Amino acid sequence: DQDEEKLQEYMDELEFLAYTAGATVEKRFTQKLSQPDSKTFVGSGKALEIKDYVKENEIGTIIFDDELSPSQLKNLERELEVKILDRTNLILDIFAQRAQTSYARTQVELAQYEYLLPRLTRMWTHLERQRGGIGMRGPGETEIETDRRIIRDRISLLKDKLKIIDKQMATQRNNRGKMVRVALVGYTNVGKSTLMNALSKSEVFAENKLFATLDTTVRKVVIGNLPFLLTDTVGFIRKLPTQLVESFKSTLDEVREADLLIHVVDISHESFEDHIDSVNQILQEIDAHKKPMVMVFNKIDDFSYERKDDDDLTPSTKKNISLEEWTKTWMAKSKFPTVFISALTKENFPEMKRLIYDEVMKIHISRFPYND
Ligand code: GDP
Repeated sequence: DQDEEKLQEYMDELEFLAYTAGATVEKRFTQKLSQPDSKTFVGSGKALEIKDYVKENEIGTIIFDDELSPSQLKNLERELEVKILDRTNLILDIFAQRAQTSYARTQVELAQYEYLLPRLTRMWTHLERQRGGIGMRGPGETEIETDRRIIRDRISLLKDKLKIIDKQMATQRNNRGKMVRVALVGYTNVGKSTLMNALSKSEVFAENKLFATLDTTVRKVVIGNLPFLLTDTVGFIRKLPTQLVESFKSTLDEVREADLLIHVVDISHESFEDHIDSVNQILQEIDAHKKPMVMVFNKIDDFSYERKDDDDLTPSTKKNISLEEWTKTWMAKSKFPTVFISALTKENFPEMKRLIYDEVMKIHISRFPYND
């Protein structure tokens, strides 16, 4: 059934995130509820089932595929007596591992503290209730109050630091002059860095893990005799923590200020349609959805679907689809110029380059109307 399929795809992604963070997944639990339980996210029966399994198999951590409210987190920790991570926490953790420059580290640290702060508060109110509130102000209170103050100070310090860097980066972007700016956007792990390397002959870190790229890389690329600036940006993901969208402002500014977006899609991924939606949604959130765009459907070498009827692609055994067949799918009917490629084998690169050239040229001509 379709819902079940979706659910397993989401769990696949969560498992991949967990793997990226360095964990091994032993078991999946799913549950259908009309809405999450306000106290424990899952129902009490399910919580017991999880608890038994955790005890029996000496599981160290439980990961939830959603952001838990501070009280849900607290309740679950108490109930299950094991470390609980939610989706936001997990993504923040991966970002923390991946941050290489001091800028990225500052951004991640800020996002982490903003995630932590309300959770400390809740821990405190929970403690307060346990101790009976007024008149019971023990060391716990002062400790948490101190923690909160330290964290708030740290947050404002980090914000100041980021403001300064943001300004520097804005100046840098301004100094790049009038050259056309193109940004690669797409879901995480779709092949943006691989494409960047192939187009700019540079060595950008590409890896089959999520979020290999945290910092933006800008390269000068020349197609034909037309130079432009190409930027590789942080990969998007479903339910990207809002704290991250906020603190990665400068990184996303590259997208916001680009003249043209190259939206890369991993066609071999069973959820690629959802990925397209997620990316478009984030583009809308950062007000970059009205820009000219080129759709690049990547990984055609690794495609494993078969065509059921004219327009419908259903997962099946591996089948080679010819380029001509690709152009008959719904993907090719997008309102944006569209191309099907493999960044790995470089199949259909000339076509992609021609498309990008045409789009960049349009912008170039509007900017330098009197040349040639
Ligand atoms: P990014 O996160 O979007 O920057 O993706 P990467 O460029 O890091 O690529 C993610 C993974 O997909 C890596 O293991 C790449 O080798 C692989 N990859 C990228 N392009 C292709 C392609 O065209 N075909 C196949 N089969 N794999 C690809």
